[in-house]
Amino acid sequence: MFVTPAAIQSVPDLKDGETSTWEARCKRCGLCCFEKGIDGKGKIITTQVPCRHLDIHTRLCQVYNHRQQIEYDCIKLTPETIAQLAWLPESCAYRQ
Ligand code: SF4
Repeated sequence: MFVTPAAIQSVPDLKDGETSTWEARCKRCGLCCFEKGIDGKGKIITTQVPCRHLDIHTRLCQVYNHRQQIEYDCIKLTPETIAQLAWLPESCAYRQ
């Protein structure tokens, strides 16, 4: 069962200095862009299935500037939404 495909590192609508600081936190691991599933114990797991727009070599989104228009379920990460996204990997820089 997939719960949240195609999430991507993203930048909230902040002032310029805040935006670059926010974006710089991302480690570009790309793990948020792999589909998630739930195992038999109800634990959320990251599958090996990437979003079709993820370049698996660079781990960057190939449609980054238009991702939310192209993928309806691509979630924009903001300081407010991070705490609600239980599927973000523990290693995600925004959860540190
Ligand atoms: S999981 Fe976190 S650190 Fe990794 S690419 Fe996504 S937003 Fe960036």
